[in-house]
Amino acid sequence: MHTKFIVVTGGVLSGVGKGTITASIGKLLSLQGYKVASIKIDPYINIDAGTMRPTEHGEVFVTEDGGETDQDLGIYERFIGNYCLKEQNMTTGQVYETVIHKERNLEYGGRCVEVIPHIPEEVKRRIKAVAEKNNADFCLIEVGGTVGDYQNVLFLEALREMRLQGEKIVFVHVAYLPVPGNLGEMKTKPAQRSVRDLNSIGIQPDFIVTRSAMPLDDVRKEKLSLFCNVVKDDVISSPDVRNIYEVPLVLESQDFTSKVLSKFNMVFKTGKMKEWEAFVESTKKLEKEARIGIIGKYFDTGDFTLEDSYISVIEAVKHACWNNGFRPKIEWINSKDYEKDDKLLQGLKSYDAIIVPGGFGKSGVEGKIKAIRFARENKIPYLGLCYGMQLAVIEFARNVCGMKDANTTENDPKTRFPVIDIMPEQKKIIAESKYGATMRLGAYKAVLKKGSIVHKLYGKDEVSERHRHRYEVNPEFISKLEAKGLVFSGKSPDGKLMEFIEIQNHIFMVGTQGHPEFKSYPMKPSPLFDGLVKAIKK
Ligand code: GLN
Repeated sequence: MHTKFIVVTGGVLSGVGKGTITASIGKLLSLQGYKVASIKIDPYINIDAGTMRPTEHGEVFVTEDGGETDQDLGIYERFIGNYCLKEQNMTTGQVYETVIHKERNLEYGGRCVEVIPHIPEEVKRRIKAVAEKNNADFCLIEVGGTVGDYQNVLFLEALREMRLQGEKIVFVHVAYLPVPGNLGEMKTKPAQRSVRDLNSIGIQPDFIVTRSAMPLDDVRKEKLSLFCNVVKDDVISSPDVRNIYEVPLVLESQDFTSKVLSKFNMVFKTGKMKEWEAFVESTKKLEKEARIGIIGKYFDTGDFTLEDSYISVIEAVKHACWNNGFRPKIEWINSKDYEKDDKLLQGLKSYDAIIVPGGFGKSGVEGKIKAIRFARENKIPYLGLCYGMQLAVIEFARNVCGMKDANTTENDPKTRFPVIDIMPEQKKIIAESKYGATMRLGAYKAVLKKGSIVHKLYGKDEVSERHRHRYEVNPEFISKLEAKGLVFSGKSPDGKLMEFIEIQNHIFMVGTQGHPEFKSYPMKPSPLFDGLVKAIKK
């Protein structure tokens, strides 16, 4: 196999942007003309992220082939531009499931099946399978969690073995350097300790990337170099930046790509960064601001707000704003407030546009429906994503078509007007509690109605967006909704599933059953988000 591997580990803290560093390395190598595949390893037992609460784990990113994966795959796609498949998110659960399954099938030929060597063996097999399937020049492997955790040891062991067994691997260790407020000084000790932890597993990093609020100075670079056994030039500083798409440029300003390539005895080509540089530069000088409200509920853990639950939506908003010359200002709106006090709805007038993203279950839903009504009646540009489309249909049924208690059977199984209903094939799945990986998942095609807003935005008759839902518009109510002016502007190719809706005589009121946020890129925004922001311009 010709693939070369780059492993990214993390030290000191989780959530310091290992995913962004991994994606940035991928971007830099793909700009050099190499084929890059990336893998995210998640050390939890869950088979996939689909069964986890977003406030626990962040967004569930959906791949083309219907994987419910870690949000880092979304970051890879947005930076590198090529699609990831579900096997590019490996979890402990998947690895053990395969090993146990093989054991039951006597595939180990009567041997005692053990954590070592059989678990790392399966890890290696999976990594190589991804590299081969993608015919990758480089395969990036991001090891989730922090070095020193019990949880990821077997993955690190597998990677150690791979290098010993002759694969070409470069290890990049991303470590956080705190600047404690009371000291006002950047401390390297925790990073040093984390490299020791890595050493104790038998891995010596080739590079250390330091994450911190500020750039790494020479004194500390020297210290890290000496104590962590990494030459000074290979200690790379990655301070906080306002725009994550700047990170490849930050790394490149320290000749990172050429340093990485030289470890593989490969030659660096100059002048590949111009377009990306111009794009990042263009996001800096925007004067006009677009204030976009996102109405959701997966924000809080304890006393803190976690934006990770909606990261693809946030990025899609940014891409669209930048494309239209706006500085994005995204604000979180808690729909439950509207359930307590109608007067608060007036506050929605101060937004240039509002979005109701995907969601599940009852909580906050009535508040969202009130907000959607307000957006429709006050002509505030509105985009509904999946649940946001379903709730817009419910709102329309209730307040325009006079179906008073119209609802989705997800929240009211006995409603007289089940305008959103469970898909027939889903009923059995739920009855048997088979929740994992059983929604309508992945990319599905839709045929767009000529002359509709969405047809103009996409500029083609057939589009494909990713899905993740169990409910859909109930065909029994379509003609009644249409009669009052709801336009079903996109349907599944067989005409049975309603994929897009829009409302006439409104600046922009569009909903989709899909999740277009998963296919939005810097310099190439999702057409629907772009349309929402263009409506502000008007
Ligand atoms: N809860 C809704 C469904 O299952 C919407 C899901 C979503 O927004 N992703 O159909």
